Amino acid sequence: MGKKVIIIGAGGVGNVVAKKCAMNPAYFSEVVLASRTLKKCDDIAEECKKIGLPIEVQTRQVDADDVPALVQLFNQEKPFMVINVALPYQDLTIMDACLATGVHYLDTANYEPKDVAKFEYSWQWAYQERFKKAGLMALLGCGFDPGVTGVYTAYANKHYFDEMHYLDIIDCNAGDHGKAFATNFNPEINIREITQKGKYWENGEWVEIDAMSIHKPISYPNIGPKESYLLYHEELESLVKNFPTIKRARFWMTFGQAYLTHLEVLQNVGMTSIHPIKFNGMDIVPLEFLKAVLPEPGTLGENYSGQTSIGVQIKGIKDEQDVSYYVYNNCHHADCYKEVQAQGVSYTTGVPAMIGASLMCEGVWFNPGVYNVEEFNPDPFMELLNIHGLPWHEEVNGELPHTY
Ligand code: NDP
Repeated sequence: MGKKVIIIGAGGVGNVVAKKCAMNPAYFSEVVLASRTLKKCDDIAEECKKIGLPIEVQTRQVDADDVPALVQLFNQEKPFMVINVALPYQDLTIMDACLATGVHYLDTANYEPKDVAKFEYSWQWAYQERFKKAGLMALLGCGFDPGVTGVYTAYANKHYFDEMHYLDIIDCNAGDHGKAFATNFNPEINIREITQKGKYWENGEWVEIDAMSIHKPISYPNIGPKESYLLYHEELESLVKNFPTIKRARFWMTFGQAYLTHLEVLQNVGMTSIHPIKFNGMDIVPLEFLKAVLPEPGTLGENYSGQTSIGVQIKGIKDEQDVSYYVYNNCHHADCYKEVQAQGVSYTTGVPAMIGASLMCEGVWFNPGVYNVEEFNPDPFMELLNIHGLPWHEEVNGELPHTY
């Protein structure tokens, strides 16, 4: 018997989660989509109807910064769980409302305070005892990266290694949306992520580097070599904690030259700053203003060509022998658009969120407390990735895309 879910956030990812949930009555009995702008929820619900999905999506307006408003919504709707795909700023208010109303929780990005461009799990891990005591589960970072990358790592650890030593997450978007400059997920969050210092894990400590200062070409399957930049990404923090044999962990992402040039100009003129300035007597945050003039991620799907390729490569040992392992998914933007009217980055985030929620609803992944995805049995998740649109491929002891 399926369970009732509330999705919060009707953006690019929310559109995919709502549609994937509405396609799967075996896991979900009712689907409610709530967001700040009701019209965006209604438009998605209307599309679900138009494409004939078996579950009718209900819509609600909510400001997820407002805990009493969330509590009222959860008390009215009585969902089994909430899938939070609003912004990372809302993670804690939604977790507070879950605790107040007895609702389970899942998100795809870790909490960030609005006035500090810094993301780490400490704020959400601090809810561990409260969730445990309340018999509630919170699953953190269940998109693609973080999310599938953690599941891939847990799968590699379970099936191929005694000890994992070197881990590289490699993320390529070789797509073209035809716009001069746009970000594939929320522009404010995206630009905060890549303009902060880079960081990687080596021999028990974090090594900090200037933003985008380390880069090299990496050859992605069916795509070829693309310049890839070393960034800090949140799953590195939980992976090195949960797999302490890892000696080095890094995250690489591709960027096109046009994107980098636009970003450099925007940075040079102060448009990426998160500190308010006075404009006509009003306080304006330049990055928030920039977000308002850029295309919304949910609108990029039509005519988006090319594909994404995200994977994890690991070196380590099994039975005292060296082992190398690479697991990845390639996803075509046009296929995503055809299925759920979304681009590939929203799709590769929304599908794993639906899968994580389905496993929680069915009790397959269930434990009171606050967890990252790699703390659960990866096998059922890996099976569902193949069924729900993100098939993966693996290579054991083959040539690695990123040589050492
Ligand atoms: P969008 O900007 O397209 O959507 C965000 C949605 O959240 C918007 O509809 C917005 O409403 C809504 N929202 C914002 N603030 C509030 C609020 N206070 N109350 C209610 N609703 C609110 O972003 P994306 O869909 O691209 O990204 C969604 C999330 O997914 C982000 O947290 C992002 O970091 C994460 N993500 C994770 C990835 C992963 O692989 N793990 C990859 C990509 C994204 P409005 O339209 O009214 O502004």
